Amino acid sequence: MATVDFDHVTKRFGEVLALDDFTLHVEDGEFIVLVGPSGSGKTTALRLLAGLESLTAGSIRIGDRVVDRLAPRDRDIAMVFQDYALYPQMTVYENLAFGLKMRKTPKDEIRRRVLRAAEILGIGDLLDRKPRALSGGQRQRVALGRAIVRQPQVFLMDEPLSNLDAKLRAQTRSEIKRIQSEIGTTTVYVTHDQVEAMTMGDRIAVMNRGVLEQVGDPRTVYDEPANVFVAGFIGSPAMSFSRMRAERRDGTVALLRDGALLELPLPGGLPRLPDEVIVGVRPEHARLWREGVGLVGPIEGVVEYVEMLGRETFIGVAAAPEARFIVHADPDARGAPDEHVRFGLEPGRLYLFEPETERALGRV
Ligand code: ATP
Repeated sequence: MATVDFDHVTKRFGEVLALDDFTLHVEDGEFIVLVGPSGSGKTTALRLLAGLESLTAGSIRIGDRVVDRLAPRDRDIAMVFQDYALYPQMTVYENLAFGLKMRKTPKDEIRRRVLRAAEILGIGDLLDRKPRALSGGQRQRVALGRAIVRQPQVFLMDEPLSNLDAKLRAQTRSEIKRIQSEIGTTTVYVTHDQVEAMTMGDRIAVMNRGVLEQVGDPRTVYDEPANVFVAGFIGSPAMSFSRMRAERRDGTVALLRDGALLELPLPGGLPRLPDEVIVGVRPEHARLWREGVGLVGPIEGVVEYVEMLGRETFIGVAAAPEARFIVHADPDARGAPDEHVRFGLEPGRLYLFEPETERALGRV
């Protein structure tokens, strides 16, 4: 086990700035998830850590060793990729043993490690099979097993679940999480899927265009997003945003768009308020209007769409041309496009952002 440190790491591919002054400390034994949209630099960060790319600037440490000039095989890491890359002509046992054999590990030590990994992964009864006789989920477990038998200081995983169907993905997600906490090996995990990030990471590092936007435990990142990008990327359905005029009044803030819209108590913590703000609202904090339930409002709007998910319903509502909200409703809520509805917002749950920098100002 070991810590991992990216220290002001930059990577350019010609004109493309793939990673921009990236600094991140990973604790010993921690499961950290790098999450972001396509092209945000996640894989580049992982490949730099693995030694598959060279740094343009900065430095990387595993434990107290600077690894910048070390070949991948000398970094004491093990990688798990999206494609399992199992040897088709070998049995599961041989696939698991292969890396150790190449490193001239004694035979009984190999046997001990392979059997232990198979036990952890629940694939003890598959050891004599060839990969083609395995399901996708089983193959992925064998791929994971190959990393486990190596007993590396760090696991690097790049979208290891993306070849699995939705149900298997959810199951394997919790399995990887369980196995990692059982073995306790420091893990850097890359995904574009924010649900994976939220459910698996001890902490998540949200990336965008080569820049680390925010790092924190999932709850904090969800509850206190640092900026519009993080607020919009983490959470599904996504937070809705609208620009509004903000007026401080006696102990309240009025958010206005095409006339008076909302007036909210002003918390002491808000440092300053520009004349205009971006207001972000998560779907679960906007609900159809009922008197006496403690929501602020009502806000009137026109239904744009209705999404019934069985357990709950989301209604897309336009309150003004550029002020759209997703409103959470009961499973049996009805509504049809073009209908007029009224909804309210949960006080303390409106996120305000600065329009120019898109940085978080606080919540009202
Ligand atoms: P994805 O989820 O699509 O893999 P990512 O967040 O992992 O995305 P990277 O693969 O790290 O993103 O890519 C970051 C940027 O660097 C992208 O603009 C990509 O096109 C560019 N890039 C990555 N590898 C190379 C390369 N070998 N040559 C040129 N550009 C590259």
